[in-house]
Amino acid sequence: MEETPLYRYETKTRIVPLEAFRRDLVDVPRFSGYCRDCPHHGRFWSCPPFAFDPMTVWKGYDGLLLYLCKVTFHRDRLFPGERRAFEETELPHIKAAMARELLALEGERPGSLALFAGRCDLCPVCARVAGEPCRMPGRMRYSLEALGGDCGGALERYFGETLQWAKGNKLPEQLLLLGGLLMKEDR
Ligand code: SF4
Repeated sequence: MEETPLYRYETKTRIVPLEAFRRDLVDVPRFSGYCRDCPHHGRFWSCPPFAFDPMTVWKGYDGLLLYLCKVTFHRDRLFPGERRAFEETELPHIKAAMARELLALEGERPGSLALFAGRCDLCPVCARVAGEPCRMPGRMRYSLEALGGDCGGALERYFGETLQWAKGNKLPEQLLLLGGLLMKEDR
């Protein structure tokens, strides 16, 4: 658990059955449809549209570890303009800490693949905007939702949590960031 003047955040992990997750919580057409409505669509190599079928990724592994980062805001200490300030200053640090943890887990587990929370923000502007190849393909990772995973459904089923959304510039009570690690059985 980490505590700051504005929020605290904690992490939780669950190992879940990948076959059931694929069956119940992966729907590539549905989530790629939502991605089409996003202003970032086609502007990040970590996000749709892809030149491959995301199901081939899910089918290439045997197990899944879900990694939740739960940020709970101290509402009484927030301020006007809170959402933009948080997203510009704090969120990148939280996402980077999550990515470090997930890459460390990936490093401990040969053949595994980390899934980050949300789009890749390793570069100030993704090379895809200029039609160039990814600058850090060895570090970039996809997110669960970019590959068609249902984060809201996974949070409810495996952590008993409900996604909350920011309203305008107002942050929700809590922010839930979900990443993961796709794993292969020891062979
Ligand atoms: S590493 Fe850079 S170029 Fe590659 S997906 Fe991330 S932001 Fe885009």
